[in-house]
Amino acid sequence: MKIKMLKEIHRMTGTVKWYNEKKGFGFITSDMNGEDVYLHHTALQLHKDVQIVTGDRITFKIQKQEKGLAALEIKRLVEENEALQSDQDGIGINFTDLDLSPEILRAIRDAGYVKPTPIQAQAIPIVLKGQDLLGCAQTGTGKTAAYALPILQQLGKTSDNQNRSNVVNNIKKQIRRRVRVLVISPTRELAIQIGDSFSIYGKFTGLKNTVIYGGVGQNPQVRALQHGVDIVAATPGRLLDLMRQGHINLSHVEVLVLDEGDRMLDMGFIHDIRYIVRMVPQKNRQTLLFSATIPREIIELAKTILHDPVEINISPDQPTLEIIKQSAFFISKEKKQALLEYLLAKSTITRALVFTRTKHSANRVVKNLQRKGICAEPIHGNKSQTARQIALKNFRTGKTRVLVATDVASRGLDVDDISHVIQFDLPDVPETYLHRIGRTARAGAGGTAFAFCEESQRQQLKEIEQLIRMHVKIVQNHPYIV
Ligand code: AMP
Repeated sequence: MKIKMLKEIHRMTGTVKWYNEKKGFGFITSDMNGEDVYLHHTALQLHKDVQIVTGDRITFKIQKQEKGLAALEIKRLVEENEALQSDQDGIGINFTDLDLSPEILRAIRDAGYVKPTPIQAQAIPIVLKGQDLLGCAQTGTGKTAAYALPILQQLGKTSDNQNRSNVVNNIKKQIRRRVRVLVISPTRELAIQIGDSFSIYGKFTGLKNTVIYGGVGQNPQVRALQHGVDIVAATPGRLLDLMRQGHINLSHVEVLVLDEGDRMLDMGFIHDIRYIVRMVPQKNRQTLLFSATIPREIIELAKTILHDPVEINISPDQPTLEIIKQSAFFISKEKKQALLEYLLAKSTITRALVFTRTKHSANRVVKNLQRKGICAEPIHGNKSQTARQIALKNFRTGKTRVLVATDVASRGLDVDDISHVIQFDLPDVPETYLHRIGRTARAGAGGTAFAFCEESQRQQLKEIEQLIRMHVKIVQNHPYIV
């Protein structure tokens, strides 16, 4: 059979739909768009003694053939992560060294994680011991699992959740769950992701969680609370609303987690946070505070809410940065849109997250891209919660290739396989640059970050380079160079 090679694109992930060992072929369902991709045994690059079966998680490149899409260079996701991680972290610790229970280890295995990330290796033993923690780590380092795994384990130990329904003389007596863990997050997106993480990591523990956030009707959230949950992930505003209406009782909270603390302060939540902290038990409470940066205000907050905390710092020059290819384009404001379209014409950009300074310019960029036939959607605070969720879902599933976001809306956004982060506008604060580029290269996968820099912003770029302690390559030969 003569195969005509048309185009090869970025590495992608998928699940084996079926594979017939005898015939030597099968199909993979791609994560990107749910399409089936042909799998031929000659494309397998697996350990010889491990056979491929339905449900295996794999990574591959695709090739367009006359009859449709075919996979190339097929590897097991776990093997690829293993290779990447052993290159990167140099930490010899495995999840099995961390005193985690079989239920938790099983869930970790199902999630496809092979080795703990540096923050997980450091934080899990501390949280298991019940100590307070101040963790300096940005999103993308695996910090959610760093607290969720040990919390689930400790909660599981002291709960009777396996026997929630006590059978007494054949009469089922339901014991209502009480909120024992409260995680506060600055944005709805992050709160939802935290809830999802607790569900994934806790799926064998029998513990229940729910998520509380504004912008949607409160009734489903109230009903979930009434049914009883062990863990609540919430944004401050809606949580306060429900507290004031008497829908949530925080008097049994044993663990309080404040995630993305610096962002909560930036967003003006400090008074809400202090109020919420006063409403949870003051004695025997474990408190964990995570923040991407540790400004003075975070230290002040930590002093008042943490008790003798252990400090962990996953510094900005962490390994993930090294696997991101960073470059900057000097460009005038007027030409940015043209440069963006020029770059997006390349097929290597399979999933791009574009950052703009304002909601207004996010909308404008999207409109212009759509006019050029590029599938793009905006995500920012002016959009309704439903619109944001739909935009996120379309981006995740590959229906939308380009998501244009403002910083607040993108905070905590956890989408795998973002091939490119493009900063249409440079941020005012260098740390924001770091948060933004961290959206690509999630969990060890490589990524590319482009920054558009106006002539007047040379100093800003310098400050960014100082923060990341790296040189950002300047692209010298693009068509719109100033
Ligand atoms: P986070 O920093 O919590 O937002 O996590 C970033 C991403 O890393 C998420 O997509 C997690 O599913 C993933 N992740 C977390 N821990 C690990 C691990 N040990 N190995 C591989 N992926 C991980």
